[in-house]
Amino acid sequence: MKILPTDALLVIDLQNDFCPGGSVAIGGGAIVAAQMAKAAAYFAGAGAQIYATQDWHPEEHASFRTQGGPWPPHCIENTTGAEFHPALQLPDTAIIVKKGSTPNKDAYSGFIDCNLEEQLVAAGIQRVVIGGLATDYVVLNTVIDTLDIGLETYVLADAIDAMDIEPNDGLRALHLMQTTGAHIITIAELLTGDALSPSEGRE
Ligand code: ZN
Repeated sequence: MKILPTDALLVIDLQNDFCPGGSVAIGGGAIVAAQMAKAAAYFAGAGAQIYATQDWHPEEHASFRTQGGPWPPHCIENTTGAEFHPALQLPDTAIIVKKGSTPNKDAYSGFIDCNLEEQLVAAGIQRVVIGGLATDYVVLNTVIDTLDIGLETYVLADAIDAMDIEPNDGLRALHLMQTTGAHIITIAELLTGDALSPSEGRE
């Protein structure tokens, strides 16, 4: 896929607490981090922008079980759990977008409780390539939101992983992204140019 200045890579919540050893661990988290590091290097090399979302909660966040929410406490601001996974090496130019800082509001999308949407619009971004965690929560909802504001949206099928609290939640989420209009591609297709975008490859 030839990367243009109006393309952006969205790296979703690749943080220690969502990876093995973390409080809401997803089995493939470390692999996803390494895969997204490759995608980030490719975008940086092409001079395109990278946005990395970071779940960033106060200690008493509404999504925590301790507060009546569904999740164990995770990604508490300024803790190791909230840091990006070490395998996710991002260029200095990457823009970090913290979300979920409001105590009584959860952020199941990279567009909620932060200014990512405003930043993408202000930068004139037209296509986004998305990977990270988790397929069935923040990746899914971010993809639905980018499609909703008219961005051509690509999901990296081998740079995401699911919570799968119910069996096959991740597969259902991927199917929903596709039927809503997202293109599903692999890291190899991103890096080699096999996944032609409509603007490049179709009539
Ligand atoms: Zn959270």
